[in-house]
Amino acid sequence: MDHNMLAEMLFPHIQDTPADIEARYPARKLAEGAKVTRFAPSPTGFVHFGGLFPSTVAERLPHQSGGVFYLRIEDTDAKREVEGAAEGLIKTLATYGIRFDEGAILDEEGKISDKGDYGPYKQSMRGPIYQTYAKQLVREGKAYPCFTTEEELDELQQVNKKEEIKNTDWQVEAEKRREEMLARRQFTMEEVKAHLDAGHPFVIRILAEGDAEKKVKFTDLVKGALEFPENDEDFVLLKSDGIPTYHFAHAVDDHLMGTTHVIRGEEWLPSLPKHVQLFSYLGFKLPKYMHIAQIMRLDENGNKKKLSKRDMGANMDDYTRMGYSPEAVCEYVMTLLNSNYEEWHAKNIDKPYTDFPFNIKKMSVSGCLFDFNKLDDVSKNILSRMTAEQVYEKLVAWATLFDPDFAKVLTADREKALTILSIGRGGKKPRKDLCTWADAKPYMGFFYDEYFEIVDPYADFDRETIALVMKKFLETYDPKDEMSAWFDKIKAIASELGFAADMKAYKQNPTAYRGNVADVSSFIRVAVTGKQNAPDLYTVMQILGEETTRARVTKAMMAL
Ligand code: GLU
Repeated sequence: MDHNMLAEMLFPHIQDTPADIEARYPARKLAEGAKVTRFAPSPTGFVHFGGLFPSTVAERLPHQSGGVFYLRIEDTDAKREVEGAAEGLIKTLATYGIRFDEGAILDEEGKISDKGDYGPYKQSMRGPIYQTYAKQLVREGKAYPCFTTEEELDELQQVNKKEEIKNTDWQVEAEKRREEMLARRQFTMEEVKAHLDAGHPFVIRILAEGDAEKKVKFTDLVKGALEFPENDEDFVLLKSDGIPTYHFAHAVDDHLMGTTHVIRGEEWLPSLPKHVQLFSYLGFKLPKYMHIAQIMRLDENGNKKKLSKRDMGANMDDYTRMGYSPEAVCEYVMTLLNSNYEEWHAKNIDKPYTDFPFNIKKMSVSGCLFDFNKLDDVSKNILSRMTAEQVYEKLVAWATLFDPDFAKVLTADREKALTILSIGRGGKKPRKDLCTWADAKPYMGFFYDEYFEIVDPYADFDRETIALVMKKFLETYDPKDEMSAWFDKIKAIASELGFAADMKAYKQNPTAYRGNVADVSSFIRVAVTGKQNAPDLYTVMQILGEETTRARVTKAMMAL
């Protein structure tokens, strides 16, 4: 067989050689140890939490080592492509601090364009490049055309499936498949010519010389030492439209684009034998691989399950809608990614997560468990440490999109909102009322007449007593009082009505009193805030002002 002639017959339009292409993709000039990584999503939908995970690793490593992080759009499967998905992915990733130095970017008009010298960064634009390498492999006798049509392949598979059911002897089955493959490899130049003349479509397959009996030793930077059989499957490199399969595009692109570390989900681990073989056939240096464990969740029965696309918490855009601050999500991702992150964070409470020395060795080998409670915890802490101004800006930005009426209320009086948001902020033990921006209205809405309503019941006392407390409060209330004077007045009302003014005294002899001062202030609290749980009542009244405070207590008293 004249492989040169075969290559020319199959790819007459390809005149470049791999050497010509290599010249256009010179080695990157980076310092020793600088890592080059990429995120390579297929534009088939939204960013999944399980995708943010590897992309965070892929972002951290180069940015910690003076390297390059780039975005490549893997759009080789036109059937699965979703319109606008690539643009959406870029925007969502940017929200979560995934900044690319190079690759597919959004231009000013919101269209995808290239930034950097190693493009095009959209695989559908790279057809001739893949075809050049495929031609070379054919020329070297390492790949061959296969004219079996998709229908024939489907048929073959059907037969195989039937066989599989009957045939439990896998050795025999595997041998049979191999023979089929080998039969497909044997063809004459005349046959090829006849097919081409007839315009029959063909795919290019690798001529796999691996021996499945032989094992390849391999070290994955996350999974550790691995061993797998050599690849003996003649897998497809180029589909009949000249577009590569994932395997082939991965080898060609990661080589040309100078990727040092391939960071991807562990679902690609079974394909590794193919990739190792392909890099070797192509004469490329194998990059380092990091296969990231999948994210798991607990199902209703407490069993671990893969976090699937449809699960709550999978779609990153949901976090935005739910009002999670991206900082909180990023921080949570870090706690999942590196086992020592929390310890570091506790010691470096004011530092951003990007200061953390991310360490590959501290990554979990098996699946991490996704847990909303933990995320909420992290989120409350993050929000509690923000300044009132930061909270205000982020809250208004969120509300503008998801609760425009609330945004209007907040922006109508910025100073008032800032005063409210300052309550309990800044000290050693800040209040942790907010977990998401959606919590803000239920927490602080009562400060605004448009949202105020009595939602909690009063403590269990007779109406006359509660009304009497309110009456006495209105008689003595003076907004000019300092906090201690204000509280002394509440205590005085308590004593006068047979409630203990002093908690210690009450605890020693509870039956001697009708209740205590906390009950008394709770009546006023419900009247003024509508809730049993609210920030410090004195502060609340200072913010509301005399008129509103009096109006609310009066109205509550009348309604009893
Ligand atoms: N396009 C592949 C995916 O979305 C990329 C895997 C990789 O990073 O190599 O799963």
